[in-house]
Amino acid sequence: MQNSLSFDDVLLEPKYSEIKSRNEVDIGNFLDDKTYLDLPVISSPMDTVTEDEMSWTMYDEGGLGVIHRYNTIEEQVVLAKKRKANIAAAIGVTGDYESRACALWDAGVRILCLDVAHGHHVLTKNALKTLRGVFGNEIHLMAGNVATLDAFNDLADWGADSIRVGIGGGSICSTRINTGHGIPTFQSIRDCSYSNRDAKLIADGGIKNSGDIVKALAAGADFVMLGSMLAGTDESPGEIFTSGNKKYKVYRGMASRSAQMDWRGQSSSPEGISTTIPYKGSAADILRDIGGNVRSGFSYTGARTLEEFQSSATFLLQTAAGQYESSTHILRR
Ligand code: IMP
Repeated sequence: MQNSLSFDDVLLEPKYSEIKSRNEVDIGNFLDDKTYLDLPVISSPMDTVTEDEMSWTMYDEGGLGVIHRYNTIEEQVVLAKKRKANIAAAIGVTGDYESRACALWDAGVRILCLDVAHGHHVLTKNALKTLRGVFGNEIHLMAGNVATLDAFNDLADWGADSIRVGIGGGSICSTRINTGHGIPTFQSIRDCSYSNRDAKLIADGGIKNSGDIVKALAAGADFVMLGSMLAGTDESPGEIFTSGNKKYKVYRGMASRSAQMDWRGQSSSPEGISTTIPYKGSAADILRDIGGNVRSGFSYTGARTLEEFQSSATFLLQTAAGQYESSTHILRR
């Protein structure tokens, strides 16, 4: 049986650095030959994370937003049309996915995300081939989610330009509890980073803080996808409500009972939960902090670019005592 590691199992070794200011560090990356993201962060296609406002802020801050697909085609097109920007939008791999893709294309969307829980599947294969046939190379096809190198390579061979890597690690996910399947996201990133295909690797699920983002990039991710870190903000969909003297917003998995009831009027075998999280203010501020922290992360390794960072970063395993010391442990005393 193979061992597998999670973000908290590892730390990056600090190295000699000549970087005098974080401004010397470029953390950006090409999603494809047309799209460069200054901030390697993509917001999740979830109905409590990304609609038009989050997409706009993501664009403004150098990242990318993926508008969720839990709406009618008409509603999604309205969201996509509100802002002309680097807009990406999610579709499924069954039902109306082809007409949804065509409507989004007509609305100007050039990045489509084939958004399914188990991406290493014949339906993803068929959908990727169909969409590549319809749109040729003019469209960027993001697909997933996958957890293994074999799956990553297959999706790349079926036509995916970028691939979401991570199964069962999401903060609202109950896939591992309910089905016993999954791989710690950090391990999946490492495994998939050995791919010799050109597809970009998007680390997705279980990223809790900017330290995890730095670790994901060091392990081989080109980009990270965030749900909980961007939920509960001004730009995430949903109302702010007050309980006691605290403000909250809802954050829910798209396979939770509550999300399933809302988008298809019935629910079966939920693989996620719906919860409330404290209201956090502006996502733009969170993204700026992430940018600063990731630049600092690169400078601790002495790297000015993602390529330099990935070639020189070294991981160490940490024990339970190390994990405790790595936290702000005065708060635990
Ligand atoms: P987070 O950043 O840890 O909150 O994880 C967000 C990711 O969880 C998303 O980008 C999806 O890949 C995944 N996800 C979203 N909804 C569900 C669900 O209901 N069950 C399992 N995974 C989910």
